[in-house]
Amino acid sequence: MIYADVILDVSIEKLDRPFSYRIPERLSGIVCVGSRVRIPFGAGNTEKKGYVTALKDTVQYEEDKIKDILGIVEGSVEAEDRSFEIAAFIKESYGGTLSQALKVVIPAKAKVKPVELKTLVRKMDIEELSSLAAECSRKNQKAKERLLRALMENERIPSPWIAGKLRVSASTVTSVIKSGAAFYETSSEYRKPAVSDIENTDPLSLNDEQRNVVESVSRDMECGHPGTYLIHGITGSGKTEVYIRLAEKTVLSGRQVIFLIPEIALTYQTLARFYAKFGDRVSVLNSTMSPGERYDQCERAKKGDIDIIIGPRSALFTPFSNVGLIIMDEEHESSYKSENTPKYHAREVAKKIASLQNAAFVMGSATPSIESYSLALAGEITLFKLNERATGGELPETSIVDLRKELSSGNRSIFSRKLKGLMDEALSKGEQIMLFLNRRGFSGQVSCRECGKVIMCPHCDVPMSLHTGSRLMCHYCGEIMEKPSNCPSCGSGYLAAIKAGTEQVEDRIRKLYPDVNVLRMDKDTTSAKGSFDKILSEFSNGEAQILIGTQMIVKGHDFPNVTVVGILAADLSLGVPDFRSAERTFQLLAQACGRAGRGEKPGAAVIQTYQPDHYAVRCAAAQDYEAFYEEETAFRETAGYPPALHMLCIQFFGTDEKKTSLLAQELAGVIKSKGRIRVLGPAPANVSKVKDYHRFVIYVKDPDLSRLSEIRTGAEEFFKDKDMGSVFVQFDTDPMNAI
Ligand code: ADP
Ligand code: ZN
Ligand code: ZN
Repeated sequence: MIYADVILDVSIEKLDRPFSYRIPERLSGIVCVGSRVRIPFGAGNTEKKGYVTALKDTVQYEEDKIKDILGIVEGSVEAEDRSFEIAAFIKESYGGTLSQALKVVIPAKAKVKPVELKTLVRKMDIEELSSLAAECSRKNQKAKERLLRALMENERIPSPWIAGKLRVSASTVTSVIKSGAAFYETSSEYRKPAVSDIENTDPLSLNDEQRNVVESVSRDMECGHPGTYLIHGITGSGKTEVYIRLAEKTVLSGRQVIFLIPEIALTYQTLARFYAKFGDRVSVLNSTMSPGERYDQCERAKKGDIDIIIGPRSALFTPFSNVGLIIMDEEHESSYKSENTPKYHAREVAKKIASLQNAAFVMGSATPSIESYSLALAGEITLFKLNERATGGELPETSIVDLRKELSSGNRSIFSRKLKGLMDEALSKGEQIMLFLNRRGFSGQVSCRECGKVIMCPHCDVPMSLHTGSRLMCHYCGEIMEKPSNCPSCGSGYLAAIKAGTEQVEDRIRKLYPDVNVLRMDKDTTSAKGSFDKILSEFSNGEAQILIGTQMIVKGHDFPNVTVVGILAADLSLGVPDFRSAERTFQLLAQACGRAGRGEKPGAAVIQTYQPDHYAVRCAAAQDYEAFYEEETAFRETAGYPPALHMLCIQFFGTDEKKTSLLAQELAGVIKSKGRIRVLGPAPANVSKVKDYHRFVIYVKDPDLSRLSEIRTGAEEFFKDKDMGSVFVQFDTDPMNAI
């Protein structure tokens, strides 16, 4: 083997094929498939980097034209064969270049010094700890006492717990260590979790519904034919418990587990359950990690130091040797789709990886995506239902409040009388309240309180937002106008900004209930590292009675003392021009309502809306997924959207409007000339210009996904030889967001 195929590190279509290089004597046996190498490229022999994709004995070029590989990139990480297979699948399914796909699949490239994870280990016996804790209590050292009591219950405490769940600072830990109560063990001493760690959590006995899922999936795994499964389980029905059992079985059989969870749903509560069960054999990936920290996790996975990785979609590419189970919680979440080229969907890539490794693929959601549910109904995915709350509680009683009626009967507060009444009652009983603001829409938009009309930008299809004083501004094009004094539609004088800001809600609450502790959770209050967990644990510890927040508060948190959930402006997200807007609204509302009454006390939820008759609102209030699915699929079929038809969105961006539009027209013409396929556009995108880039879109629809792939490949070919100027093109298959 003296030649190597090398794929360059560039995202230019024209260079997206392997180039042949010679392996010089000194590198022979060192360069292998997956090596990252330095190579001379082009007439000027500029040094470039790339991956070796194949080794060969012969090449079809003249020997003297072949250049030598210069060397291995220092500190680089080899890509595994499997990574190439997955990258090829991603390129084939979503377009883009192979090197772009490789970047997704091999996230950590440079070796960096591993960061050590720590575990606090108990050193004193229980009696000593107890008397020390009592002493702290007398001295009013609350945090220290908390940590000591936690040590009495747990022999080992992973460091993420300490700052998160226990809210104990580093200096307190130091003082506990100084007093001889415990010591830190670093990650270099990983070990199998001791039996006592596992016994720390009381083993729950699964209910019949849960047991059925665990038994069916493990049976398939044991006989070597694992499949794809969808668990449709209402909030609190015990899905996470099922995941943990399946993970446990997989690990016992010597295989590894990838547990995907959207980042905003990854709470310390879920983590704690996994840590309690699997100790140091579990690891977490998240977006705040540095490349070095990610690399560290990959190395641990490669070495076999961990069995389970928990993380967002990128966790899929953890280099385990033998994955037995991939779990995708909250499978409907749009964050599973990448927003950058290649715009891959983790659900489809997970399925591919599962089939390459003969692993089971288990998805779960209280509100499955229309796509997955239709596959389940068609029998392509095994469907399981969990219809009961695992703790026996009932789903909350949900009421819909029509905000137009609220106004006509004289209530101008942002809280309806119904919600206000429930809040008063809950507060008087010492129970907790969550107030949720649907911010998927546009905050600050101005609408008529009488007829619901929203003031839109004259140049863009987006609502204007209220700025200082009475100035309205478009966030996309910068258009500025004065706020009209009357509604342009019905003439009413009640034009008001939907003060969607959580801050405003907080102000109102503080005025209404001056003696009540309030917490707010949104982008502003969670920007600091650890603040997200801090707010949640404060609320969970009962330090505040009311939690106000954006959609980040509706995900996966279990607060047994929350009896009232209020959704303040439910329909903001219905105004988004996107075929998925009803689905998203339904999911958000259903999940938000599901937060109430998760403990022993019954819960109540109030949905405040201008569109009480919209099926997304009605079905969410009734917690009726099937009814929503029926209405939504009927709409998708009539209008020709996924899953009824697959959709390829070809997006053109360019500073020269004419040229951008012309290129789009040219391509649309070529596609149409190929015969019977539905082509829409080109048309200006929903938001037709952003920061001086004009946007045009072509939608191609077909029931057959492979035809759309052909069209995309054809389009990529078509543009290879074109002078594109400033124009660039992106492809999005079955898009999550309308652009
Ligand atoms: P989901 O993931 O579906 O929202 P969880 O797995 O978080 O549900 O379970 C909700 C609550 O019910 C948790 O507090 C969990 O400990 C509890 N739980 C789960 N399964 C059982 C069971 N079989 N028996 C008793 N409690 C259970
Ligand atoms: Zn505008
Ligand atoms: Zn009006």
